[in-house]
Amino acid sequence: MNNNNYGIYVHIPFCKARCGYCAFSSCCDYELQEAYFCKLFQEIDRASDLSAPITTIYLGGGTPSSVDVKYLDGLFARLTSRFDLSRVAEVTAECNPESVTDELLACLERNGVNRLSFGLQSVNDDTLARIGRVHSYADFEAAVQLARKYGFDNINADLILGLPESAEDFRRSVETVANLPLAHVSVYALELHEGSPLYRLCNEQYPYTDDQLADMYDYAVATLAACGFARYETSNFAREGRRCRHNLNYWTEGRYYAFGAAASGFVGDVRYTNPFSVTDYLASPLECLRGECQTLGISEQANEFVMLGLRLDDGVSLAEFADRYGCEFFTFFPNAAALAERGFLAVERGFVKLPTEKFYIANSILCELLTDIS
Ligand code: SF4
Repeated sequence: MNNNNYGIYVHIPFCKARCGYCAFSSCCDYELQEAYFCKLFQEIDRASDLSAPITTIYLGGGTPSSVDVKYLDGLFARLTSRFDLSRVAEVTAECNPESVTDELLACLERNGVNRLSFGLQSVNDDTLARIGRVHSYADFEAAVQLARKYGFDNINADLILGLPESAEDFRRSVETVANLPLAHVSVYALELHEGSPLYRLCNEQYPYTDDQLADMYDYAVATLAACGFARYETSNFAREGRRCRHNLNYWTEGRYYAFGAAASGFVGDVRYTNPFSVTDYLASPLECLRGECQTLGISEQANEFVMLGLRLDDGVSLAEFADRYGCEFFTFFPNAAALAERGFLAVERGFVKLPTEKFYIANSILCELLTDIS
């Protein structure tokens, strides 16, 4: 049924300070590290499964690079004893520039980490200060340089589109990053919840229209492409052979374990999510951790497969769809043929995809495509 890849996601929620746009499960109280990792190890022990070889591991956060390395060593030892890691091809650790040290990089290297993902967000120091980041652009450059000294050559940088900065500042970030020796760049759209510290600032002083944001995004796509970073998913750009395998597994409806606060996993036909806050995660008895649990029927899985797959530039393989769900794509989705006729879906070489110029209205297309599913 699935793509035979099994991933592991581990959420490490500790951060030195809280960014003004943060919507993740994060916590600045490092006194809780001991208790958190103790709970995490128990959770891993409980899920232990040596039957499905793991292909990717991803340490996300939070700021995984900011915790005491003894906990990272302990985490990898635990994963090694509880899962079959003999087929792991990619191990990513998210890092914030200010916390990258020799000690950290040596620890990541000895534990098999082969991909680093940096939260950079902008190359403009004013912007970084305004959004509550605790690093400068120079810190990022120094961290990348140090990482390369340790042999890390598969490095990603995240940028955010729509921050409280000028469009010119954003373009400068894109140009700078596109010319660095990186393997991968992600460009995410800023999402702000009403009441978050940046909400007023963004809306009052930097009220970008959707058209302006679309122009900025187009600029990023073209600039990155010109420097060898091809878009392969709406927000992700990679050099040849450097697509993120862990995320590709998500987007192709693969399976993955997830551990830690707010972590969401998908094992067998069950999707589960752990308590969001660190305190709720710590307070929850082990057997109650996967509080939100949902068994997905075949129809829901097919919908998800298409919803995620259409974010990929490659689109959805018609043969794989039929193989997975026992039904032809155009039969399963009664509205698909009409959408294709109107130019909202394209079929090329056995794949169905969103035409590039329709990326901006992806949500409306998906709404029409995925309705009327029995
Ligand atoms: S580094 Fe990430 S998780 Fe931590 S506060 Fe900033 S946005 Fe939130």
